[in-house]
Amino acid sequence: MKEILLLKDGEIVLKGLNRRQFEDVLIRNIKYALKGLGGFQIKSAQSTIYIVPQSEDVDLDEAVDRISRVFGLVSFSRAAMCPEKTLDSVLATAPVYLEKMLCAAKTFKVEAKRSDKQFPYKSPEICREAGGALLAKYPHLKVDVHHPDVTVYVEIRDFGAYVHADPIRGAGGIPVGTGGRAVILISGGIDSPVAAYMMAKRGVKLTAVHFASPPYTSQRAEEKVVRLLQKVSRYAGPMRLYTVPFTKMQEKLRDDCPEELFTIIMRRLMMQISEKIAKQRECGALITGESLGQVASQTIGALGCTDEATDMVVFRPLIGMDKQEIINLAYKIDTYDISIEPYEDCCTVFTPRHPHTKPILKFVKSAQEQADFEPLIEEAMEHLKITYIE
Ligand code: ATP
Ligand code: MG
Repeated sequence: MKEILLLKDGEIVLKGLNRRQFEDVLIRNIKYALKGLGGFQIKSAQSTIYIVPQSEDVDLDEAVDRISRVFGLVSFSRAAMCPEKTLDSVLATAPVYLEKMLCAAKTFKVEAKRSDKQFPYKSPEICREAGGALLAKYPHLKVDVHHPDVTVYVEIRDFGAYVHADPIRGAGGIPVGTGGRAVILISGGIDSPVAAYMMAKRGVKLTAVHFASPPYTSQRAEEKVVRLLQKVSRYAGPMRLYTVPFTKMQEKLRDDCPEELFTIIMRRLMMQISEKIAKQRECGALITGESLGQVASQTIGALGCTDEATDMVVFRPLIGMDKQEIINLAYKIDTYDISIEPYEDCCTVFTPRHPHTKPILKFVKSAQEQADFEPLIEEAMEHLKITYIE
């Protein structure tokens, strides 16, 4: 039996004139997600995208898994394509295709949608006939139109007739690449991969920046970031990772700045360098995994001092979330187990004993200016390491 995937557009149906553009990006992302799985014909009509495998050996389970992470889809279904677009063909296909599900169910109903108005039967007739055929084959079933165990969908469309059961929930959001570009500051922690996922869900195409301070931080810590981003890229698509050599700046911080301001000045340096990379990459915003009140550098006062270091918009999608909510999302995107691996992040190198929770911008700026990080920033920008994440 020939199986295909029927995908329903999500929020992009709300877009007016640029809907076409959104759909083109969505289809491009779907093609990318299916790369390496074999040949597919992909076409779009009436708010539905059809994915038709071109050979028998295509791994449709894997295709379903990958499609479930493509932003821009509310739901999708794995459906049987009836050999012919006739009522008889529908009645023959439905009981066979849905056998397993219907054997396990007690109640069912049929819903029919006829977008091809040339089809000689109207939706209520299709429902009645299909319901009758299923009851004849599975006499243990009862019809329940309010709370059925299984809803059988019959869709008569321009390209053919399809049968499927309850749709699978899509990833939601809007297609990556339709929401502009931004730099995600990625540590090896729990929060920043989740922040990356959340902004990708709003259509943002990501470039990642990671600050490394060898030998205080290890090669393993950098590899961990790569593995985290590989998980994120299953949602966000391919991206570049820029690794910034941060050691000299941190040593200068330790030597030339007041201890209680280490963290806040370090955060400002991260913003300034990330902004430079963002401009190179034509990104319009920075993204961090900060959450209000989580640590000393994430108070309102400290965030204000951090923001002042850059002219760019800073997105902090986790700002109002508590740790458990963030962890739940980290489980969902499968980054949690990697995040809790115990490698040092540069943030834990030379941490002050008593960081200021209410830093005063004037003092922060003058301490930073006195130390003069400009030459080191220039030097770091000349030694960025680029890794391609697929
Ligand atoms: P995370 O779990 O993401 O590490 P956190 O709660 O540990 O966050 P901080 O260490 O204060 O918080 O970092 C706050 C944010 O700063 C991170 O979410 C991330 O966006 C950015 N950040 C921290 N360390 C780095 C780093 N080494 N490289 C790039 N960005 C970083
Ligand atoms: Mg951290």
